[in-house]
Amino acid sequence: MKTFREPKKLQTYCRRQKLAGKKIALVPTMGYLHEGHLSLIETAKRKGADEIVVSVFVNPVQFGPNEDYDKYPRDEKADLAKCRAAGATAVFFPTPANMYLDRHSVYVNEEDLSRGLCGARRPGHFRGVCTVVAKLFNLAHPDFAVFGQKDYQQAQIIRRMVRDLNFDLDVVVAPIVREPSGLARSSRNTYLSAKEKEMALAISRSLKAPKSVKGIEKELSAAGLKVDYVECVDAETLEPRRKIGPGTCVLVAAYCGKTRLIDNRVF
Ligand code: AMP
Repeated sequence: MKTFREPKKLQTYCRRQKLAGKKIALVPTMGYLHEGHLSLIETAKRKGADEIVVSVFVNPVQFGPNEDYDKYPRDEKADLAKCRAAGATAVFFPTPANMYLDRHSVYVNEEDLSRGLCGARRPGHFRGVCTVVAKLFNLAHPDFAVFGQKDYQQAQIIRRMVRDLNFDLDVVVAPIVREPSGLARSSRNTYLSAKEKEMALAISRSLKAPKSVKGIEKELSAAGLKVDYVECVDAETLEPRRKIGPGTCVLVAAYCGKTRLIDNRVF
């Protein structure tokens, strides 16, 4: 397994692999890898990738000023071992300084799907995500890139970016990987105390057979969580839908103590 820190080195390597006829998959992550991330590598393998490039980068541009950029968990050594064991062929560990050069001034803005949900609560978040993902696409030349349904809005936005900017690649979305308890796996789960982890189960539980958005909100509040949003939207357009039913997606963001957790279910 190769490791790269310099964007240019990764780009040269991937270009060469591509010219040699290799099928390249890209798996963008922020690291502190868990089984959710590893399932994306598994998906890349299953889809026949010859080169599986995992990027590990806590992207400063997608964090708001009062968010957890500084304390976001990082463990490069463990991530390397997990990538190797999972069958990645290359890992990219850039630094903020080599991803964003002095006077970096070009950003990618998606202006439709980003307006609501996490886009409304985290101004600038998806601008940061789209920008870094576009850069990664240009560096890794992937035939396809794998994202998780865990970040449903993000996956839809990336699909739109690929369509609207004519990126020559496929977007693959893999299902949410959960702990046996039902809790969606997340690097941020490491922030949770045992008691908070117990409280957090209300999120996946509330999405199992929800009757209404109000019902979910009630269940989350009763469990001691602070609701950021619960919304039922059209699974494609992300426009609000009144009733939970076929073709809709219900998305939840809630604070468990200080930790903001997200989850969703498509119907
Ligand atoms: P992150 O490191 O949290 O930015 O996530 C990197 C990628 O892994 C994104 O495409 C996420 O949607 C995906 N991912 C994170 N957690 C999970 C999970 N529990 N199940 C499936 N995919 C996930």
